[in-house]
Amino acid sequence: MNFRFVGTGDSAQVPRFGCDCPACGRARVLSSHRRGACCAEVRVDGYRYLLDAGRTDLADSCEQETPEAILVTHYHADHVQGLFHLRWGTGTMIPVYGPKDANGCADLYRHPGVLDFRPGLKPFRPLMLPGLTVTPVPLNHSKPTLGFCLEDGGGRLAYLTDTLGLPGETERFLRDWGPDVVVLDATHPSTHHEPRNHNNLPMALQIIERLGASSAYLTHIGHDLDAECMTADMPLSGPVWLAHDGLELDAGAMMARRCG
Ligand SMILES: [Zn+2]
Ligand SMILES: [Zn+2]
Ligand SMILES: [Zn+2]
Repeated sequence: MNFRFVGTGDSAQVPRFGCDCPACGRARVLSSHRRGACCAEVRVDGYRYLLDAGRTDLADSCEQETPEAILVTHYHADHVQGLFHLRWGTGTMIPVYGPKDANGCADLYRHPGVLDFRPGLKPFRPLMLPGLTVTPVPLNHSKPTLGFCLEDGGGRLAYLTDTLGLPGETERFLRDWGPDVVVLDATHPSTHHEPRNHNNLPMALQIIERLGASSAYLTHIGHDLDAECMTADMPLSGPVWLAHDGLELDAGAMMARRCG
């Protein structure tokens, strides 16, 4: 399984409009430090899957190569805004799997266009797709939200955003399932003491430690976490990294390294 972080920012992205903090200033000068809306791409056996659809060039990307399916974690705008343009296209219908959410986002359900919404993913019930098994797990967020446990027979990767902590049943499932790679929401820096909808850095590190993951990447990163990491000694330890836009992982190779 090849996994690519397409976007790793929070809903404000980096640089944040109008902000002159060190992280936003750096991102304006060095495009490698920019963070787009949080989303990812998975390639397995010649099939391409998209995790979330917040990128504003989504239609261009799908025109170059139609995805087998889009998996939506939840219906906040930063995760689905690309669908508003894509839906008015023509051609093959694109399946869009997501959590049960009666409202979705704005009028997407009422005017789906080329999008074939399948909003009934059931927690812990595996969805079998060509080359890929996806087990949805509930997350803690202000809208119905699912994480995705991805397995291709060679590696296991858990994609867990947006969330504040993890529901107990999800944490128990993940400990049994044993992901090779955990991708986790870490929107806020450690100085953000009372987060409501997303992890701060210490919470994310504690979750990763409890899960015993052999490698982990933080995503949905806000500008103030980037700024904190620029000034402090990096508070990250062990096999935990900040993801960045464009970063690619080979989940199968990670499993092979761990076993070998
Ligand atoms: Zn988000
Ligand atoms: Zn900033
Ligand atoms: Zn959200």
